[in-house]
Amino acid sequence: MIALTAAEIADITKGRLAADPGIVPASVVTDSREVVAGSMYVAKPGENADGHAYVGAAFARGAVLALTEREVLDDDGVPYPAVVVDDAVLAMGALAAESVRRIRAVRAARGEQFTVIGITGSAGKTTTKDLLAGILSRAGATVAPQGSYNGEIGVPLTVFGADSGTRFLVIEMGATGIGHIQYLADMVKPDIGAVLGVGTAHAGEFGGVENIAKAKGELVEALGEDGTAVINLDDARVAAMITRTRAKVLGTTATGAAGAAVEARNADISESGHPEFDLVLPDGGPSHPVRSKLIGAHHVTNLLAAAASAFAAGISGSDIAASLSEQSPASRWRMERTERADGVTIINDAYNANPESMRAALRTLADLGHGRRTWAVLGAMLELGEDSIREHTAVGTQVVRLNISRLVVVGREARALYISAIQEGSWGNECSFTETADEAYELLQAELQPGDLVLFKSSNGIGLRHLGDRIALPP
Ligand code: ATP
Ligand code: MG
Repeated sequence: MIALTAAEIADITKGRLAADPGIVPASVVTDSREVVAGSMYVAKPGENADGHAYVGAAFARGAVLALTEREVLDDDGVPYPAVVVDDAVLAMGALAAESVRRIRAVRAARGEQFTVIGITGSAGKTTTKDLLAGILSRAGATVAPQGSYNGEIGVPLTVFGADSGTRFLVIEMGATGIGHIQYLADMVKPDIGAVLGVGTAHAGEFGGVENIAKAKGELVEALGEDGTAVINLDDARVAAMITRTRAKVLGTTATGAAGAAVEARNADISESGHPEFDLVLPDGGPSHPVRSKLIGAHHVTNLLAAAASAFAAGISGSDIAASLSEQSPASRWRMERTERADGVTIINDAYNANPESMRAALRTLADLGHGRRTWAVLGAMLELGEDSIREHTAVGTQVVRLNISRLVVVGREARALYISAIQEGSWGNECSFTETADEAYELLQAELQPGDLVLFKSSNGIGLRHLGDRIALPP
């Protein structure tokens, strides 16, 4: 974090100082349990709990300043040292914007470069962010979000991890409405912006897929003439964003789309599901072989976006290909593969689910089958609004068309998926519906055989990842 005095923080956030400790906080946290000595604690009014109730706890743990929406008094009736603002989340955004400005200015004065890269899309943001950060961190000090931090709180928290020693700042940008990405882009002023795909995730909240395209495109609209827009030409709605940017465009394709500067040639999937391709970059040189350790053909899009963004940030093709070939899937429950001692293979992708990632995971399951019995254990995709029944129905149909051997649908919310699979296919006992994860557990434990390949996938809120974890335990 860059050095800001309490008085400067009040100035930047248009807040009022309730007791000036005259100090410079060393970090910013929004969870009082994460406070360490020197932290500034942000008390936001949360959905479940009001952060103001934990101001005392934060100071007890070593906080030196709080950012609050009202004055909070200690047991003696004395106000805690705090900057009091109207809206703590907006204040975090203002502080993040000022932090980026100062880092840029300080580095420019020292003749050092500083590059901010924003990534958005309906699926694959975190994967791409991790891949890109993996490439960039070999070339210079890189700050990237923890986990999937990608919103109005997560982005500022990521920015606060950067200081004038930071060479690359990678920002994941999520949106649940029009104007959200624009807000985040105004905050961090990206030099490079990558759009992965426009899917139907959150279509309900957005009011349709065209609005999602509009929202994701705000990233490339925010880029200046000196910027670079990384555009996935294999997605028609993303390709259409070319007309919405002043920046230089680096188009990516895995399907030979015309006009692509960055290309995956001879793309293939290894026996164990790993994407392999020859990376072509506009560097005038030969292509660079990439042998990824990620699982699933859909990751080619993410690998290409990371490659193009890194190339735009000045990394050489051979360094990009070497890093992409070396990196393993980072996070739990994302195509996480476990081999049970009895020969059952579990693929737990139940970190989250939307129609795009559901389709991608099912295709991967089918690709990996190679004559083995394949199981899809599926729960609902949440937050689809009025598209919910249609999307679940489409997944049920897809399971049949992909010739998945066994389908287990868990939970009432996903019943449309089960019904459509039954209607589409000629299942005997191979298609099951269970109300609860416990029932599904009993069914699987009774019926899994050596050699079976089992995919677990649902939205986070349905929690099938825990079922996958239980099944993955030694039999
Ligand atoms: P969130 O909006 O939850 O932050 P995200 O965009 O960060 O999601 P990831 O966390 O990278 O996405 O991946 C989420 C899920 O989508 C995983 O199941 C992953 O396998 C799948 N996925 C990743 N990339 C793609 C892609 N290009 N197309 C379809 N599915 C994908
Ligand atoms: Mg994410």
